Amino acid sequence: MKAYRGHLMHVRGAPMLSDAREHLVSEPDGVLVVDDSGRIVYSGEYRRMPTPDAEVVDHRPGFLVPGFVDTHIHFPQTYCTDSYGGGQLLDWLERCIFPAESKLADPEYAQVAARNFGARRIDVGTTTALVFGSAFPHAQDALFAESISLGLRTISGRGIQTVGPESAAALITDEATAIALTGEEISRWHAADTGDSSTALVHAAVVPRFALSVTAQTLGALGEIYDGVRDAGVYFHSHLSENVAEIDAVRSIYNVEHYLDTYDGKFGAGSAQAGKTLLGRRSVLAHAVHCESAELARMADTETSISHCPTSQLFLGSGTMPWRRTTTSGVTVAMGTDVSAGDEWLIPRVLNDSFKVHMSEPGDAAVSLSAAELLFSATLAGARALDLEERIGNLDVGKEADFLVLDPQRQPLLPQMLAQIDVEDSDRLLFSLLMGMREQAITRVYVQGREVCAQASQPC
Ligand SMILES: [Zn+2]
Repeated sequence: MKAYRGHLMHVRGAPMLSDAREHLVSEPDGVLVVDDSGRIVYSGEYRRMPTPDAEVVDHRPGFLVPGFVDTHIHFPQTYCTDSYGGGQLLDWLERCIFPAESKLADPEYAQVAARNFGARRIDVGTTTALVFGSAFPHAQDALFAESISLGLRTISGRGIQTVGPESAAALITDEATAIALTGEEISRWHAADTGDSSTALVHAAVVPRFALSVTAQTLGALGEIYDGVRDAGVYFHSHLSENVAEIDAVRSIYNVEHYLDTYDGKFGAGSAQAGKTLLGRRSVLAHAVHCESAELARMADTETSISHCPTSQLFLGSGTMPWRRTTTSGVTVAMGTDVSAGDEWLIPRVLNDSFKVHMSEPGDAAVSLSAAELLFSATLAGARALDLEERIGNLDVGKEADFLVLDPQRQPLLPQMLAQIDVEDSDRLLFSLLMGMREQAITRVYVQGREVCAQASQPC
């Protein structure tokens, strides 16, 4: 049993976004007691700690916060942040991304990329990630193996493409191969670390790149596969309505009313039901910038979640997800970096962009997000979007101990900034911490009570 002493900050319980503020916990002299299985057995004031014999690790004046959850990040784009595509989404994909992702055809290159990807996640405190995978099975093997070796939580699936431009040729397979590789990946890697999805750190997902990178035939076959594995806890992940030109192309190629119909089995002409749905409580769609009300309602009904990636949306200039309209529709909205269209790996930098873009929405849509709402979106909402809320997302007793130690002393001016604020004013304190922090403030990263280190074989 170990006790980690510091300033606890988290959103307790299981509130909705609108109630996050009432659930914000700020315990200046707090402690987190973690048992040998990695579970939190006490979370609260240090002076009331019920286990005086626990070994105390004193992180004061540091903060203890839940590990960040990144619900949308591209592994094969590890080296592609700030790639100039000279245009919006479809230009950028063709000019920068498809060629860069093709390089993972080289197994050694892919292995190094997987190592760098995992190490980078630890640097920025992303303990859980839904990872958009590489097209190449050997690269996915490297990703999962590195994740298990490092002790991170990772959900991923190979990026499926069965159609596309010449620049994506290396990433495209025929239909039969796409289906076979997807099935093989699920067999090999879903819950591979423990054999049980309810205890595993790694999970598999079915991940078509987006509706335009596959065909109705592919979507039909993926629907059949997914129907057979959804009860085993396999995920579905893709992109939705990021860009107006993309939406127009989807509607015209599939002849559907709504973009979402393609993932909902309604990819027949006129949105006719033509296969099984890919939506559900382990389904996460990235972006959802230009959704219609019917699409939001359908996602809410099916408990499908949205990964909100404002940093990426700013980079590609295709508009940003309307916050109030989307979150009040009942859909769970969690944060995603969308590396590499998003050029920030650190979730608090994405929160920072989120605050600014939603403050700048037109007219009545403008909203000033509270610190508790920001923290909720980066932690508990992510856990909920990934159907892992029973296990992670905050520092409540009974949860698995995924947490970060933030030491303001490591970052110039941060201690002085925080010293301006009354320690009892938890809203302002958390706001300054989240908006102001950079990755050097993250000194320790724990998953399931175990410290994770960028070099798995060496001490942190
Ligand atoms: Zn993306």
